[in-house]
Amino acid sequence: MAELVDAPDSKSGFFGSAGSIPAPGTILKMEETMKYCSSCGGTISRKIPKDDNRKRTICDDCGLVHYQNPLIVVGCVAESDSKILLCKRSIEPRYGYWTIPAGFMELGETLAGGAARETLEEACANIEIGHQFASVDVIDAGQVHIFFTGKLIGGYGVGEESLDTQLFAEDEIPWDELAFHSGRFALKKYLEDRGQNNGVHFHELRRQPGAD
Ligand code: ZN
Repeated sequence: MAELVDAPDSKSGFFGSAGSIPAPGTILKMEETMKYCSSCGGTISRKIPKDDNRKRTICDDCGLVHYQNPLIVVGCVAESDSKILLCKRSIEPRYGYWTIPAGFMELGETLAGGAARETLEEACANIEIGHQFASVDVIDAGQVHIFFTGKLIGGYGVGEESLDTQLFAEDEIPWDELAFHSGRFALKKYLEDRGQNNGVHFHELRRQPGAD
């Protein structure tokens, strides 16, 4: 089973490997993890398909091209009484560090719907989703992280992937214990915006080694 690295949520990954727990620090490529074609079981090779311009993982037997493209991670900075909801991770990578509720977008949902679902799963919190305000390209992890604003509706709790969930005032945010660079960027921009919709703030990271 392939492992996904440096992702806020390890439920799914590059190869749909549900439940795999990633080990931080290494970026696995498909050619390193895929040995046989998932369609016919044939052997695979790395070569440039006809009419393409880069090497792909191609089945030697059935010719199927196994494309590898970036995955989308969606998250929400949810606020209540000027405090921000953060979750302490109960899974690797970055076990025990604080994070904005975020995870991989699922098939059949919208960006905003995914952000709301992750907030419900990780913080047991219903939110009124706001606007998209941050977009982080995590290039070496093959991911794009999209963040929304949100308002908490009612209470919150501790989801399966969390050890704890808390509301933090701006001066209480545990900056030194944040799990991911992308979340740190999103929080900073969220606080700079101060409730205004200033469009989307873009950021580019080569990799996502956490916030230290
Ligand atoms: Zn095949």
